[in-house]
Amino acid sequence: MNFKATFFLLILLFTLISCDSKGQNQSETTQQAHENYLNNLTYEEVMSNESKLSKAERSEEEWKNILSSEEFRILRNKGTELPFVNKYNSHYEDGVYVCKACGQPLFHSETKYNSRSGWPSFYAPIEEDAVDDREDNSFFMNRTETICSRCKSHLGHVFDDGPEPTGLRYCMNSAALKFVPKDSSDE
Ligand code: FE
Repeated sequence: MNFKATFFLLILLFTLISCDSKGQNQSETTQQAHENYLNNLTYEEVMSNESKLSKAERSEEEWKNILSSEEFRILRNKGTELPFVNKYNSHYEDGVYVCKACGQPLFHSETKYNSRSGWPSFYAPIEEDAVDDREDNSFFMNRTETICSRCKSHLGHVFDDGPEPTGLRYCMNSAALKFVPKDSSDE
């Protein structure tokens, strides 16, 4: 290989490496920015519908950039996390749960109960139109999928074996939710 060709190859290699690291940095920054956005939400803002919502329509590439791989698998590819060892299964603080993908308020802690299923369960969404139902016939089962009405991300499933007053059990993935504590407004 002559000098010119080697030089050209080296330049090409450096360009590829720098493009790659730039891409990774950007993805980390975006994921961090999304985490920061969620961490800065306050209970008061969320409950008065004054919190800024994150973009609801994104390409799959964009979702990949702002969500962790586990969150992406669940929210965008209808995945399910492991029971019992997830974040909010045994979590009973006062506050509100928002969509991890777009920030829309979904469930209030007042409707959370212990279903013993291993996943955080609620008997009603915070507003009737906060979530949408979708028929799910995967895995040879006939279930009703629950999605965020705003960004259409998968949250979990709804069953009709819940407690009064609705008789419904919204069985959610912790990774699809972000909890905003009630005392976050005092800070
Ligand atoms: Fe959403």
